[in-house]
Amino acid sequence: MPATLLTGIGLLSTQSSDGDLADAAVVIDGDRIAWVGARAAAPAADAVVDVEGRAVIPGFVDSHAHLVFAGDRGAEFAARMAGSPYTAGGIRSTVAATRAATDDTLRATVVRLTDELLRSGTTTWEIKSGYGLTTIDEARSLRIAREFTDETTYLGAHVVPVEYADDPAAYVALVTGEMLATCAPDARWIDVFCDRGAFDGDQARAILRAGVAAGLRPRVHANQLQEGPGVQVAVELGAASADHCTHLSVQDVDALADSDTVATLLPGAEFSTRSPYPDARRLLDAGATVAIATDCNPGTSFTTSMPLCIALAVREMRMTPAEALTAATLGGARALRRTDIGAIEVGTRADLVVLDAPDPVHLSYRPGVDLIHQVWRSGSCAKGSR
Ligand SMILES: [Zn+2]
Repeated sequence: MPATLLTGIGLLSTQSSDGDLADAAVVIDGDRIAWVGARAAAPAADAVVDVEGRAVIPGFVDSHAHLVFAGDRGAEFAARMAGSPYTAGGIRSTVAATRAATDDTLRATVVRLTDELLRSGTTTWEIKSGYGLTTIDEARSLRIAREFTDETTYLGAHVVPVEYADDPAAYVALVTGEMLATCAPDARWIDVFCDRGAFDGDQARAILRAGVAAGLRPRVHANQLQEGPGVQVAVELGAASADHCTHLSVQDVDALADSDTVATLLPGAEFSTRSPYPDARRLLDAGATVAIATDCNPGTSFTTSMPLCIALAVREMRMTPAEALTAATLGGARALRRTDIGAIEVGTRADLVVLDAPDPVHLSYRPGVDLIHQVWRSGSCAKGSR
C-alpha cells in the first residue's frame, strides 16, 4: 500500500506524549502511522490528502458492546420511560429471541451495528456473547463475533437463564465447565455481570477464575445497579476493566485508583434507563484510569455513538471535553490492554477520524450533530471521500 500524507490538520489530538499539535500532518504507511509532526516538516508521500484545517483524533475504541442478539426492546424502553424500573431480567427476552434466530439473522445485525460504529468514528470494538446462555448458543455468538473483531468476550454469566432459575449453582457449573471449554477458543476475554439480579461476588470469582484457567482474561460488569462486590472482585482478580461503576463506595474508588483496572463508564446505559450517572470526576480526581464505551445492547443502551457518550460524559459525568476524548480513545485501548490503538504516534495502527470541526471540543459542544467527516481504519479510508 503506498504511503499517504494526511495534511492540513488544524488540530491533531495525538493522545501520546506529543499532546495536541496545531497545523500538523501524519504519514500513513500500510496499516501503520509512519510519521507525525508539523505540516511544514512533512516528508513526501505517494498520495496527499488535505483535510483543510479540520481536527483529527484517534479512532474511538469501544471496549464494551453487546452486538450479537435478535429482537427489539423498544416497547420495554417506552414502558421504562413511562415509569417502569429497570431490572437485569429484561435480558431474558433478548435471550429467547436470540436462541430462535438463524446465524444469518444474527450476523446481519452485527454487520449493521459495526457499520454504524465505523461511520460514527469507532475503529475498534469489543463484542460480547451473553444472549445465548446455552453452550451451543454462546459458542455460535462468539463464532459470529469473531468474524468482526479479535476482542471477543465470553459472557455466559450475563444472567441465570429461566431454565436454571431454581438452581443457579448448576448454571454456574455449566458456565465454568462445558460452556467455557466450548467457547474459549473464540474468546479473548471472560466477563460476568456481578450485580443485583445477576451473579454475586462468590459466583463472579468462581466464573472469572475458571476463565483465567482456560486462558481468558477477566473483565467485569460491576456496580451498575447498586453498590456491591463487583469492583472489588475485578481489582482482586486483576481484571482489565470494571465496567459501569455507577454506584461506588469510597473503598471502590480507592481500589480502582490503586490498581491497573480501568473504570469503564457507560453513560448510554444511564441515559436509556433514566438512572443517575456515574461520577467520573471522583474517579479521575482519585487517579483512576477512566474509559467510556457505548454498552451497545438492545435493552439498556441501544446506541453505537461514541460521540453521544462523550457528550453525556461531559454534560452529565463532569468530565472535561479533553478527558472525555482521552477516555473514548486511549482509555478504551487501556481497557482492552492494547498499546497499538487509541493514540496517533509512530507505529500505532493507522486509525484516525477527521472531524468536521476545528477542535474536538465540538464533539460535546455540538451534541447530536454528525461531525465525522472521514474515518481511516488500519490505513484505509473507511468513510468519507478522499
Ligand atoms: Zn454490558
